[in-house]
Parts: sequence; C-alpha cells; structure tokens
Amino acid sequence: MSGIVTKVSGPLVVAEGLADANVSDVVRVGSQRLIGEILNMTGDSASIQVYEETSGLGPGAEVETTGMPMSVELGPGMLENIYDGIQRPLPEIRALAGETITRGVQVPALNRTRVWHFDAVAQVGEHVAGGDVIGTVQETSAILHKIMVPPGMSGTIRSIESGDYTVEQTVAVLEDYKGETHELSLIQRWPVRVPRPYAAKHTPNRPMNSGQRVIDTLFPIAKGGTAAVPGPFGSGKTVVQHQLAKWSDVDIVVYIGCGERGNEMTDVLMEFPELTDPRNGEPLMKRTVLIANTSDMPVAAREASIYTGITIAEYFRDMGYDVAVLADSTSRWAEALREMSGRLEEMPGEEGYPAYLASRLAQFYERAGVVDCLGSDNRRGSVTAIGAVSPPGGDTSEPVSQATMRIVKVFWGLDSSLAYARHFPAINWLTSYSLYVDNFRAWYNENFGDKFMLNRDKAMHILQEEAELQEIVRLVGQDSLSPADRLTLETAKMIREDFLQQNAFVDEDAYSSYQKQFRLLDMVLRYDEVCRAVLPQGADVNALFNIPARERIGRAKMVLPEEVDKTYDDIIEEMKKEVAEIAERGEEE
Ligand code: ADP
Repeated sequence: MSGIVTKVSGPLVVAEGLADANVSDVVRVGSQRLIGEILNMTGDSASIQVYEETSGLGPGAEVETTGMPMSVELGPGMLENIYDGIQRPLPEIRALAGETITRGVQVPALNRTRVWHFDAVAQVGEHVAGGDVIGTVQETSAILHKIMVPPGMSGTIRSIESGDYTVEQTVAVLEDYKGETHELSLIQRWPVRVPRPYAAKHTPNRPMNSGQRVIDTLFPIAKGGTAAVPGPFGSGKTVVQHQLAKWSDVDIVVYIGCGERGNEMTDVLMEFPELTDPRNGEPLMKRTVLIANTSDMPVAAREASIYTGITIAEYFRDMGYDVAVLADSTSRWAEALREMSGRLEEMPGEEGYPAYLASRLAQFYERAGVVDCLGSDNRRGSVTAIGAVSPPGGDTSEPVSQATMRIVKVFWGLDSSLAYARHFPAINWLTSYSLYVDNFRAWYNENFGDKFMLNRDKAMHILQEEAELQEIVRLVGQDSLSPADRLTLETAKMIREDFLQQNAFVDEDAYSSYQKQFRLLDMVLRYDEVCRAVLPQGADVNALFNIPARERIGRAKMVLPEEVDKTYDDIIEEMKKEVAEIAERGEEE
C-alpha cells in the first residue's frame, strides 16, 4: 500500500495514507525510491526520516512501505567491507556509480555472487535451536565465521551439506515442530534498533588488554565495558583509536565513523585499510568492519549508523568473539538526532537536543556487555563500546559529554595542552577515571601479584601530590620545598615521562605487555623508595636526580620484551649502588 507525500523538510518527509504502516518501517519515497524510515505515526500520517538527499522531492510523490523495520544483513562478507550508515557497501557502489552515492541505488550489503566454502558441523536428524552453530565459513584468514540458527527458530535438521555456496543459497533445511520447513542460508536479517538476544549477561570483570600503559595500568577498561574519549582537535584521538584497534585483545573491531568535515572521514577510509595487524602482519581489515558516513551524506544516515554498527558487533559476539566498537564521534550522531528532532518540532531540551538524548545514548552503551551466547555449546562473547565525543571548544559541560559521562564506566580525558607539550597519549591522569578498577583488583592480584594494583594506587597518589605541589611552587617558588617534596616532584616527572608517555610510532614502545608495564612502573617507584630512604642521611637531592641509572630508566621503555627482566634488574642494581654512594658522601659531610 502506498501513501502520498504532503511535506518535505530536508531529511524529514511527511506522508499521508499509510494507515497500514508501522513505526520503524522502512519506506521507499518518490520515483527515485529513496530509502527512509518511519519515526512516528499519527492516524494515517507518517513522519519519515529519509537517508538520502531529498532535493527535487515534493508533495504528491508516492511513498511505499516495505512493511519491514530497518534491518541489516548478517553473514560472510562483512569483514574487510566498508559500509555507509544503512549498510550499503561503499566500494561496490563506487565501482557501480562513481564517487558520490547515486540516490536510490540498491546494492545488497552482502555480495550475491561471491562463493564461500561452508563446512557443516551439524548433522541431519539433529535438533537445533536459535544460536546453535550449524557450520562455519573461513571468512578471512583471521576469522572463522560461524553460521548460526537465527534467534527464535528451532527444529530438526532435514538436510545439510558442506560445499561452496553464495550467501543466498540454502545450506540446510530445518523442520519445526509443526512440520513446517525452513531453508537456512548464510544470511540472517536483524532489525538494527532491537538488541540481539543472549542467554545471560555478566558483570564485566576482565580487563581488555590494550598494551597502552596509561590505559591498562591507570584507567583500564573491561572486555564488555564502556568508555568515552573526548577528542579536541589535534589531541591524538585518531592515534588512540588506531592503537586500540590494533592492539586490543579482541577478535573483531567495528569502527563507526561519523565525519565532521568531509576530508576527515576520507582520512579514516584511507588510513584504516593501510593499518597492519601487529599480531600476524596481515591487514587489520581482515578482522574489521568499517562504517563510514562522509559529510556529503545526509545527517539522517549518521543517526542509523550507530545501530548498524552495534548490531553487526552483536552478531559477531553471538559467535563467541570479543568485539570492540569504536564510535567516532557520538557528538556528530547526537547532532543528527537534534536536527531531526527540530524538524519534527519536538520540545527541545538542553541546547536544542531532544529530551531523549540521554536515553538514546544509554540504549547504545547498554548493548555492550559480556554474555553467554544463545546456543548449546556455552560460547561466551563480548561487545566493548568506546565512543569518542567531540565537545565544541573542548568544554565537557555540554549535554552530549555530560549524558555520556553518566553512562560510561571509563573516561579517558584527552587533553590538548598535553598534546601541545608532546605528551602522548595525551590522556590527562587527573581528569580521567575507570570505575572498573575495583572490579579488576582480584584479577590483577591473581595474575601479577598484589603489587600491580598497589603500585598503581601509589603512582596515582604521587601524580595527585605533584599537582598540589606545583600549586605551591607557583605561589612561593621551588626553594620552599623540602627535599622529600622535591623527590616527589621528580618521581612524578618520571612516572609521566618514563612510564605514561608512549610512542605509537616506535615499534619497541607501541605495545607494552602487562609484565613490562608492571616492571617499568615498579622500577620508577623503586627509585623513589631507594632515594627517599637516604634523604634523612643528608643525601644531596640534586646528585640523586643526576645518577647515571636515571638515564637508563628513561630509555627502559624501549627494552625488548624478552630482555625486560634482566635489563631492569641490572638497572635497579646500578641505581642502588649509585644512590648508596651519594648517601655515603652525605654522611661524611
Ligand atoms: P586528532 O585526531 O585528535 O586530531 P591525531 O590523532 O591525528 O589527532 O594526532 C595528532 C598528532 O599527534 C599525530 O600526527 C602525532 O604526531 C601525534 N601523536 C598522537 N598520539 C601519539 C602517540 N601515542 N605517539 C606519538 N605521537 C602521537
């Protein structure tokens, strides 16, 4: 059944005569069959968000509902692909229609002609239900794609055969308890605004290893956890995201980019495919799905992209994988929400954002988590959600930052003044936090001994003390400080420079194992301890700050993993000897 357009306002189209349609239905608008989604209905009149440029469209145009909610296609072929916000494959569209997306273009999300080898693992006669794995496809060298019975379906397998198939061909036939048969192909469809089901959700209690010292040691994030990272321009946001994508111990990365300026997304589209996976030297894209909204796409598509991305992430989670979703930036997404809300003439909330901004943000982050997957083989998977926010002028008191900070458990405060001082990663240790730290204590204690967390707390304490002492220095000058306070300042400087600063572009430094992080921080704190012990003997602090071992500590982050223990032991021995000599001199005087 079809309706008639009565009003067009940018991406918002109002149409009448759609009594049979439902909220969330996908519709086709006008002769170009533009893709849209019904946002709300009053009587037979529907407000439609159109995901394509609406210029040239006017009252009288025809609207047709598909009767289906906004959905994605899930199956082999998503990895290595680049999609727009409503899952149209950009490389194929470009090949078909050139640089800009032609309106109304229809290209399926999963390639219809590509042939995949399907290995059946379920057998004829077996009873299966939603989530059970019936077979596998080696999608890329990095990822084995598990073909699962769609949620809500169950029955007995009547036929299944390994072999080569396109995504639409039938690989298995199920007979349900009513005797009806269902053909299963390699594709599932899922409405993007509905979270995919799981058997049980757990409190995240294992850290996600990022290899970044400031993150893993000071502000760790959980596998299945949530984090926000504000990124003022030039603060190193892109580098942090690339580091997370490359080094995090997750199986799959879904990167959702909502571009600010046109070239910015193009950067991502150019850069991401260039990244190599440090674990096997292969392109990182072999375990990545990119979702990109360039700025020449209408804002409405941005609004959808976040749901498209997290649904794809949930689908891989359902296979038992750990997935990280990086959304950049949720501020651009919120602006799309604001624009649509304005056109719908809804009552505006703070700074014009709709009142439901916070609940929509929460709905996104709530889809993160560690779950027991559906299916009989006890798979466990996780979705970790990391959202960048880009507050105008870096001021996090604005609504999107505030709403986000109330939801997420980790906040990495990127700071442009640190970036300006070339302190990278420019994560501010005074404003950042992780609410997972207490959940993780047991895990860290078990794996690395109590000292890991004790050292962490001590380092945080010294950094806070540094901030207070700097205040005093600013008021009354360096000379007023006691030797003990001067040592605190020196140790804080070492924590910042020798431990927290980490160069993403130097192979030896780009990644630090937990063991290396632990030993490096422990060595800095040992320096503090050894020096502090000799202060009462009148040791000369300037001499202590200038011992040769100090320079070796400064270079210690570059030590190769297999040499860490031996080299660090050696440095500590040297340091103790040099400090003892200075202490002796102090006593003689
Ligand atoms: P943003 O995306 O926030 O505008 P970028 O991530 O592009 O900023 O970072 C800007 C510059 O800062 C980079 O080109 C690089 O020179 C430097 N930088 C950022 N992070 C690091 C890091 N971890 N190690 C070394 N240099 C870095």
